[in-house]
Amino acid sequence: MILVGVDAGGTHTRALAYTCDGEELGRGRAGPGNFHNVGLEVAMENVRKAVAQTGVNQPDYVCLGMAGLDTKRDVELVKPLADRLGRHVRVEHDGFVTLYAQTWGKPGVITIAGTGSAVVGYDGTRKRRAANMGWLLGDEGSAYWIGREALRALTRTMQGVSKRSQMTTMVKEKIGVKTLDDLVEWAYYNGHRVSEIAGVAEVVEKAAKVGDKLALKIMRTAARELAAQSVNVAKKVGVEKVYVIGGVFESQLYFKLFSDWTSKRGVKTERAEREGVLGAVLIASQEAGCLKPLERHL
Ligand code: BGC
Repeated sequence: MILVGVDAGGTHTRALAYTCDGEELGRGRAGPGNFHNVGLEVAMENVRKAVAQTGVNQPDYVCLGMAGLDTKRDVELVKPLADRLGRHVRVEHDGFVTLYAQTWGKPGVITIAGTGSAVVGYDGTRKRRAANMGWLLGDEGSAYWIGREALRALTRTMQGVSKRSQMTTMVKEKIGVKTLDDLVEWAYYNGHRVSEIAGVAEVVEKAAKVGDKLALKIMRTAARELAAQSVNVAKKVGVEKVYVIGGVFESQLYFKLFSDWTSKRGVKTERAEREGVLGAVLIASQEAGCLKPLERHL
């Protein structure tokens, strides 16, 4: 019996194949998998590509964890397409599979800060979510959120409304613009490129580390907003710990700002040890009725 887990995120999609006995068969990787950002066709093509790269054909049980599955309608749209991935297919929110990788179905809370952001809690029966809801409505503290703040600051600088800072110069270099016209072109001429805007966040982090006040303010606000949502969910679920994962948390600075905020409110922040795609495999193995052998191998 072959199991496949997929974690389709805002910038990358990862797939992992196992046998029911816990033998790893292969891994796959492709581009963005959040269909709110790149459309259903591109997102599903990336999912298929990642699954194909694992080298397995027609897996028996598949669990697809996907960013952007924020409503019932989202799931209804994706499910029929996902059903072609294998014999039995389960579709889940990416936050839930990532939480599952840490807790294996027990109550807990996870906060993702990657391209987008989400806080997902599970109390054993009910799932709770905060942040989430994409770049327009939510995604507090995500790379997109940080990148957008920096681009807005750069715009004000280029308009002569606020002073130049190390950060605005670094952002200009990163995206390769010289004039305000270039910036407008970068922002609007190629569609809404969520991953590219999120890509600006790494420059903000660098600038904050060398003491740029504006960059530090953006990082601090980002971390606090997401930390506040995380503490909220932790209290509702009744746990005193939040797992965190995603590219933004790789920044020590962000991690510290976030964890200081939560710990002052009685909630510990802990880095998630296992990648989300593993949670998807575990859910697939549970569906297949072979969770135990797989657990022993992990
Ligand atoms: C999406 C969520 C997702 C989060 C993290 C957000 O943009 O709306 O569904 O969980 O990104 O990937």
